[in-house]
Amino acid sequence: MPELPEVETIANGVHARVHGARIAAVWTSGKPQTFKSPESEIAEALTGATIDSVRRVGKTIVMTLHRGTSKKPTEFLIHLGMTGRLLVSAPDVPVPPHTHAILTLADAREIRFVDPRRFGRLSIHQPVTDNQQPATYSGPGREPLTISLDDFAALFHGRKTPIKAALLNQSLLHGVGNIYADEALFRGGIRPTRHAGRLTRAELTRLRTALQTVLKRAIKLGGSSVSDYVDADGMRGYFQIEHKVYGREAEPCTTCGKPIKKITLAGRGTHYCPTCQH
Ligand SMILES: [Zn+2]
Repeated sequence: MPELPEVETIANGVHARVHGARIAAVWTSGKPQTFKSPESEIAEALTGATIDSVRRVGKTIVMTLHRGTSKKPTEFLIHLGMTGRLLVSAPDVPVPPHTHAILTLADAREIRFVDPRRFGRLSIHQPVTDNQQPATYSGPGREPLTISLDDFAALFHGRKTPIKAALLNQSLLHGVGNIYADEALFRGGIRPTRHAGRLTRAELTRLRTALQTVLKRAIKLGGSSVSDYVDADGMRGYFQIEHKVYGREAEPCTTCGKPIKKITLAGRGTHYCPTCQH
């Protein structure tokens, strides 16, 4: 499942290729699970609109568009789910199986949303508030890359859930998934089972730094292989960050040499070093 760094990489790659382009036509597959907004609404909102930007908010890709001289933007929200891919393809590239939406650009290139397992979601967000001021999509939780230490600490204050579960709670921080939660906790020296509300200020400081470092590192590594995601068939897998615990059960810890332990926590496989994480 794509996490924050992968989604950021994809959004940046798509932005570089399509910002400023106009959408000439829209096709959708008619598979109801995929569409959170009615397909007719999606087609109406996108057809003839110009793409201003493509960016990441949490794990959602947000495409901002405008039409003609209208100052009122529309946002097209793309959530990749488990297996969703967003491709920018030349028209002569065969359309892959499980394609659920095609935005044909004025220059004939196609933005294709492909999703075999159909956990991905497409919807239209009209960013207007009661006072008619545009309010862009901000997602359910806080942004982990830019959150201040005070706000980060406040998220976990009084929470009795394990810190690993709190990191995965998308209404607290959005975009952090299983891999980066495990890696950040290892780098912060914090055991995943600790009660979130009992972490000290020093531990929260370490955890925030570790989380931001690991996410930024993964974005940096992903940036170099962006064409693998969004060009051509997009079939190549996600880059691997230098995993220190995730997927390394029973292998030696890179710091102390003792075996990495795997437990199930909040329903998710959780990896940690019993020696290095307290
Ligand atoms: Zn260790």
